[in-house]
Amino acid sequence: MTPKDRLIKIDKLRVWHPFTQMTEWAASDPLIIKEGKGNYLIDIDGKRYIDGVSSLWVNVHGHRKMEIDRAITAQLKKIAHSTLLGLSNIPSIELAERLVKIAPRGLTRVFYSDNGSTAVEIALKMSFQYWAQSGKAKKTRFVAFTGAYHGDTFGSMSVGEIDIFVKKYRPLLFEALRAPYPYCYRCPVDKAYPSCKLACLVELEKVLKKNHGEIAACVIEPVVQGAAGMIVSPPGFLKGVRRLTRKYDCLLLADEVATGFGRTGRMLACELEKVSPDFLCLAKGLTGGYMPLAATLTTEKVYKAFLGRYEEYRTFFHGHTYTGNPLGCAAALANLDVFEKEKVIERLRGKTVLFKGLLEKFKPLPHVGDVRHSGLIAGVELVKDKDTKEPYPAKERVGHKVCIEARKKGLIIRQLGDTVVIMPPLSIKETELKRIANIVFDCIRKVTG
Ligand SMILES: *Cc1c(COP(=O)(O)O)cnc(C)c1O
Repeated sequence: MTPKDRLIKIDKLRVWHPFTQMTEWAASDPLIIKEGKGNYLIDIDGKRYIDGVSSLWVNVHGHRKMEIDRAITAQLKKIAHSTLLGLSNIPSIELAERLVKIAPRGLTRVFYSDNGSTAVEIALKMSFQYWAQSGKAKKTRFVAFTGAYHGDTFGSMSVGEIDIFVKKYRPLLFEALRAPYPYCYRCPVDKAYPSCKLACLVELEKVLKKNHGEIAACVIEPVVQGAAGMIVSPPGFLKGVRRLTRKYDCLLLADEVATGFGRTGRMLACELEKVSPDFLCLAKGLTGGYMPLAATLTTEKVYKAFLGRYEEYRTFFHGHTYTGNPLGCAAALANLDVFEKEKVIERLRGKTVLFKGLLEKFKPLPHVGDVRHSGLIAGVELVKDKDTKEPYPAKERVGHKVCIEARKKGLIIRQLGDTVVIMPPLSIKETELKRIANIVFDCIRKVTG
């Protein structure tokens, strides 16, 4: 048995993969990644692939980025981990200061955890406890949007709304209030942008008006709803949500786990609409895609509601063992350094314009229903019937098939249902972007006939 065959055998025998139907997995051999370099992944046979989804939306400056590699190695020579419970450490202090500098105004306090779901979970708990300790104990509920995805823990699932992920667990989840997200291709209020004048906000206002006495916070994926299929909200929507949450005295929780760190063309998606939320959740790209680290930022107003004498028990009794891990924080600091040193955000503009142009070519394809785009994020929604927008039956696995074809041509991408997602690292070169677009174009044509 070759070493590769051995690994394949053990993988199939022992590893349970996330979000994966293991029957399907077992039916073919897994692609095993051995190395990465820049924007490429290299498999166990030495074959190279463009990392077209940034290793599931996390990688920012490419793999084995010298500055981040060095920062982690340097930190390793000091200490790998010590706790933030009762102690502090240097990288977590430095990083908190840097995060406050890049965050929208007013977000001044940083609470660490280690993944996106916990970052959201923390914001949910903090907002709930904030009201309980501010004399408004009736404000206990959350408003979230249709199609939302905020993670896989019970709290974050409760505000999520993608049926195939959460339906089975509904009996165990708390009930969130729901407002329509502007999925303009399939408009929830049957109108068209811009003549709709953001009618979906009217629906949100109805929910807030009726229930604000009970609402702690409104939870949103700003500008781009990720797992729903890269749904890009029209200009003005996020700003409208902020205006309404202020009007009805509800906190705004911005889940930028996917959109943070340059993906939409700005460091944070909230910047696109000059919005300051009450909570900002960061994870995925925070460490440049190197280490599991997350942060929940909030305001002085929220923070102060937790102050008091010990025996008043106003403390935020929450923490994860690896909270503020020094290796992760060192990676995150190096990530931010690269953003500054290489002027990454400024240099994105050209790539974003090119990307938009390349995506235009997809629109005439007979089974491309919608092409959504923001910064270096794209979602190409495939439909069975373009006129009626009828989706393909799930069992046809059309999106999946496109990604498998792309793999044969040296591109790793991953679908969300029948939406093909392209989300390369920010370090992607213009020639590589063109190659990605060509491959995806050819694969869509091939699979959809
Ligand atoms: C990925 C994601 C999460 C969950 O992050 P994990 O690190 O996978 O727990 C939460 N919110 C959004 C918007 C995400 O894209």
